[in-house]
Amino acid sequence: MKRTRIIDALALTASGQTITVKGWVRTRRGSKSVNFIALNDGSTIKNIQIVADVEKFDADMLRLITTGACLSVSGRLVESQGGGQSVELQADEIEVLGTCGSEFPMQKKGQTFEYMRQHAHMRLRTNTFGAVFRIRHQMAMAIHRYFDEHGFYYFHTPIITASDCEGAGQMFQVTTKNLYKLEKTEDGKIDYSDDFFGKPTSLTVSGQLEGELGATALGAIYTFGPTFRAENSNTPRHLAEFWMIEPEAAFYDINDNMDLAEDFIKFCVKYALEHCADDLAFLCKMIDPGLLDRLHFVVEHDFVRLTYTEGINILEKAVADGHKFEFPIYWGVDLASEHERYLVETHFKRPVILTDYPKEIKAFYMKLNDDGKTVRAMDVLFPQIGEIIGGSEREESYDKLLARIKELDIPMKDMWWYLDTRRFGSCPHSGFGLGFERLILFVTGMQNIRDVIPFPRTPGSAEF
Ligand code: ATP
Ligand code: MN
Repeated sequence: MKRTRIIDALALTASGQTITVKGWVRTRRGSKSVNFIALNDGSTIKNIQIVADVEKFDADMLRLITTGACLSVSGRLVESQGGGQSVELQADEIEVLGTCGSEFPMQKKGQTFEYMRQHAHMRLRTNTFGAVFRIRHQMAMAIHRYFDEHGFYYFHTPIITASDCEGAGQMFQVTTKNLYKLEKTEDGKIDYSDDFFGKPTSLTVSGQLEGELGATALGAIYTFGPTFRAENSNTPRHLAEFWMIEPEAAFYDINDNMDLAEDFIKFCVKYALEHCADDLAFLCKMIDPGLLDRLHFVVEHDFVRLTYTEGINILEKAVADGHKFEFPIYWGVDLASEHERYLVETHFKRPVILTDYPKEIKAFYMKLNDDGKTVRAMDVLFPQIGEIIGGSEREESYDKLLARIKELDIPMKDMWWYLDTRRFGSCPHSGFGLGFERLILFVTGMQNIRDVIPFPRTPGSAEF
């Protein structure tokens, strides 16, 4: 008999019709005469209640129905006698597809997230991670839908790159060289001419530079793919492998870019509220009581926009008034997460877009302001998270860009193609990068970025 997904079964009007469901046992309780089995198949946070009359089934078979076991159940869908659910399944046939021993790591309720990370291959079977990864899926759908509806083309940028000047972070090297027999030249260097690509290559830290090529041809593009940073930052907001969304649009200035970022994030949060109501309600109840209020708040309020310099003034005043930060605050400093969160959570109490950062702490490709000191950068700062988006208007002047590259002594020998965008029909353009997992952190209320990607990669950890 054709399987009915539990999400669909629960939406049916119960009239005693026979259906088959398949899934994993969450709990089993009961008396001598009747057993109640909560079955979940991942299609929804909700379980279907299976009612099994003990006398109808083989006792040995019933003993195999333990937490985590996989079952196929056929029966009649009826209105539920008990509270908590509207329908339940009166079992006629039960087949144990896969037994599950008591050493099943998700057997006990209420394990710590730390424990579950060590069993990340099985944590997917829990309510919390089911909710998180259904939401993650819906957010990916929201992103594609938003950009498609706004005239942005999905553009694939390479994962292996030969440019070592993307500048966004430390890179993982890619090589097929035999590290056991690594030959060095006389001056101690490695000769890459016989390596796979004939030159040093790495995993990308950002698709932006190639994205700019796409935008200055197709008008507007976005990337959505994995990025890699070998930074040894063991924080709840950094992964070594994470997914990034990078829209890039020709003829956009920094204000268009900010409008896009704000509208886009609000669309995604609204999409979650509309498409993930059950999972959000669960997370709000079990993980973070403020979650739904926070999501509604972001959708309903304008983000505050101010310059980095204005932000520094506020933070300096906070220090003067006795607020203690771990890291010092002065004009020119790269803001720490505590500073960003102070602006968002304490001062403005809403999302903030900071613009016009000192050029020294931002990337070479950002457009220089007339003051010669700041660049047209924009960071979107969120409650709980800090930076969720980083972006800028790009320097479109060939001469200014080249001057900046020389000033910073950036190795550009492999980057002639990037400079060509400024030689052949250069145009104003802007873009930004949104860390997908930071968005998921915000939308789920989870505290640690390792818990919003199925298989996290962090320093010292690449299990599963
Ligand atoms: P941060 O200051 O938080 O380390 P960044 O300034 O290095 O971030 P960008 O280079 O601006 O980050 O990258 C764009 C976006 O990608 C960030 O706003 C953030 O959402 C996300 N991001 C950056 N690094 C990581 C990481 N290691 N893990 C997860 N997301 C990240
Ligand atoms: Mn940034």
